[in-house]
Parts: sequence; structure tokens; C-alpha cells
Amino acid sequence: MKAASATEIWEAALGELQLQVSKPNYRTWLKDAVGLSFEGNWFVVSVPNAFVAEYLERNLRSLIEKTLISVTRREDVRVEFCVNGRHGKTPAGQADPPSAALIDIPRLNPKYTFDSFVVSKCNQLAHAAASGVASDPGHAYNPLFIYGGSGLGKTHLLHAISHVAQKSLDRVICTSAEQFTNEFLRAVREKKTEDFRGKYRNADILLIDDVQFICGKERTEECLFHTFNARHNASRQIVFTCNYPPGDLTVTEDRLRSRFEWGLTARIQPPDLKTRLAILEAKANQEGMAVSPDVLELIAQKIKQNIRELEGSLNRVVAYANLLHAVVSRDLAAEALADIADRQPKSTPPTPKLITSIVAECFGLDPANLRNRCRDRRSTTARQTAMYLIREETEYSLGQIGRELGGREPITVSQAHKKIAGIISTDLDFRQRVLDIQELVYQRQKSEP
Ligand code: ADP
Ligand code: MG
Repeated sequence: MKAASATEIWEAALGELQLQVSKPNYRTWLKDAVGLSFEGNWFVVSVPNAFVAEYLERNLRSLIEKTLISVTRREDVRVEFCVNGRHGKTPAGQADPPSAALIDIPRLNPKYTFDSFVVSKCNQLAHAAASGVASDPGHAYNPLFIYGGSGLGKTHLLHAISHVAQKSLDRVICTSAEQFTNEFLRAVREKKTEDFRGKYRNADILLIDDVQFICGKERTEECLFHTFNARHNASRQIVFTCNYPPGDLTVTEDRLRSRFEWGLTARIQPPDLKTRLAILEAKANQEGMAVSPDVLELIAQKIKQNIRELEGSLNRVVAYANLLHAVVSRDLAAEALADIADRQPKSTPPTPKLITSIVAECFGLDPANLRNRCRDRRSTTARQTAMYLIREETEYSLGQIGRELGGREPITVSQAHKKIAGIISTDLDFRQRVLDIQELVYQRQKSEP
């Protein structure tokens, strides 16, 4: 079934859902969801963030499925939620969905446009470069490499470029590194590498999100390297986003890293208070939420590092008020955000030593177990969790983290980080465990002199 059909089905389902859930609930949880694809009996719905995905999964899945069944008149429809068009897991018992069908659907979030992007000092360069590329692909900066922490607007800019490019170009490919990897591996398996090559080399513009995912995957790296060269020689635009600067990537091939640095490298930094406030105001306006400036200010003061969390917090405050049939006040907002507030990074990040000792404690181990060569399962998971948390919570480089944990190689740290991030995204219990450790780290840090 084509993308348009999934969109139409979802529009119809939304119409029915609107009658079945309260207005505030609809606005908070469903309005921004997009019908992405309908493959076999799986209907994939894309939502803006993990918070919404989790809520829908827990509270509205069955209602949504019933509605889809009534709209499609098919008894076997199942729904899967994914964040920004990215799949979390393959549904249990399902074979991989057919590649071409899923991949060719432009998974663009209609809201991620240049118009809705708030520009400030922290993202000015990335924004200017992205607009330059969108209006003159292949000539302005090739490649454009945008990097920065999670939730700072990288995907938003990538989609914004795609929206503009689609107006004048036929073959716009906006994909994630994960999707690129999966498709490449499938092409190898099915002996269709020529098709794959043609598709990625000849597209008018190629945008790859979260390229750090490819690092360490030797064959995919090599494939990307050759794709890059072919495109670059033909002046065809490439845009990458990444969580880290090229220099921090643990690529197997140095020549790939050097390609990342060939064009323009633009960093997005965490927003300052003024920008956070501007983003919240824009978002509240856009969604028609009546929230007073003092409440927005409180949210902007509490959530500092991640715009996704900033938006999630606004949704949470409004949902909380709706639930209690109360007016959104500063006190109520503080209450709604109480548990998040304690997790916000402090002005001084915790030390690796503190993180390591608390991780060890929570796993019932001695910190020495994390630094020495113990390879039993518990020590390994604890060590990897410590690596993950140090990477997330501090500015330490991969090399420094490796040294803190008994002289491990940067690639080991990078793989550990990836592995734990992967488990966190699929295993809610484990995620809670890591959140608890994180919270404990900050509590301890606060109570230390
Ligand atoms: P990343 O890809 O860097 O993890 P996203 O692009 O997914 O982050 O952004 C997270 C959320 O924050 C999205 O909903 C996005 O629209 C919003 N956002 C990020 N930066 C801005 C900005 N400058 N102006 C408005 N919204 C933003
Ligand atoms: Mg992203």
C-alpha cells in the first residue's frame, strides 16, 4: 500500500478518535501523530517523541487499533508507534518489513520546517548553512555536517531542508544511518547492491540522520565512503547529522572521517534561556495552548539541555492541568515537573569517579570491578552503563572515559554507549534502572560538599 493510503487511513482514524477521547487528550497525544505506512497488517504511526509513544502504547493502543480496524474494515490490523519515523523494534513474530516499500516513503515530519525553527546564537550557523544547502544544493557546502547533542534540532533541520528541496527536485532521500545500514545489508543479502548504489548515488540530494550509527560497521562505512565520493565528484549534495563532531567518531576508516570534514561542519549548542523561552512560546502558540509567560519561564528555567524534553515538559504541564481540571499556574507546573527537575544537569557535571562508584553500588559491585578486567556479565553491564552515563552526563571524550575505566579503547567506549542506548530504547525496566542511577548521581552530587 502506498504512503498516501496510510495517510488517508490515519486521517480518517483521527477523525473518529477525536470523537472518542477528550479534547485535551486528543491535542496532547494524537494531534501530531502521522500515519506512516501500512505493511502487511502493521500500521505504523509516527509520533514526535518517545514520551508520546510511551503514552500511546500504554493508554491508547487498543482504542487506536479498534478505530483502525473499523476504518480499514480489516480485523487483523495492529499498530506500532515510532518516534519521528524511526522504528524502535520489529513487532514480535514479524518478519522484517519489505525494504523498498518502507524506505521510499518520505518520512518527513510536516512540522519540521524552517518557519517553525527558532534561530538563535546556539544554532545560527547550522540554520544558515541548512538554508543555503536547501536553496542551492550541491554548491553551497558539500557535505554539510551538523552535529550536537540529542534533542537540539538536527532532525528538524534535516527535514526542513528536505521540504524545500522536494519542491524543485525529484529524488530527495532523507534517511537515517540505521535505515541506510539496514537497506545496504539487505541489498547485499539479496544481491541487489547495484540497485542500492544507483539509488544513493543518483539521488539529487541525500540527507543522512544520526550518522554516528554507522561508525564501526566496517562494510557500511566503506559503502558510505564510496557513495560519498561518487556524489561529491558529481556535485550532488550530501547532508549528515551526528551526535558528535567528526573528530570524536570512532570510524574504522579514517578516510571517511576526513570526508565528513570536507565541507562545512556546524555545531548546534544547547539553547540559552532566552532561546528556550522563545521555543516554548512558539510551541504554545502553534498548539493553541493557553499558558502564561511566567509558567513558560519556569519550564525554560528547569529544562536546559534538550529541546525535545522542553516540549515534552510543556505537554506534560498542560496534560497535568487538564487532568486535574485546573488552571496552568506556576505551582502546578512545578508540581508536574518535580521529578524531571532533579535530573537536569547541574552547572558542574558529576565526575566520572562519582558516576562509576554509584553505578558499581547499584549493581552490587566494587568500583574496582569496573576498572579491572572482570568479564562476568554483571561487571560488563555495569561497566558499559558507567561508560554510557559518563558520556551522557559529562564532557569527557571517548578516550578519557576509556582511561577512567581501566584503559579501555575509545571504540570500546563508543560501542558500550551504543549498546546501552539500544537497550534503553527497548527495555523499559532497564531504562528505569539507568534513570534511577542518574538521579542518585545528582542527589549525591548535591549532598557532597
Ligand atoms: P535531534 O535530532 O537533534 O535529536 P530534533 O530535531 O528531533 O533533535 O528536535 C527535538 C524537538 O525539538 C523537535 O520537536 C524539534 O521540532 C524541536 N526543536 C529543536 N530545535 C528547535 C528550534 N530551534 N526551534 C523550534 N523547535 C526546535
Ligand atoms: Mg534526531
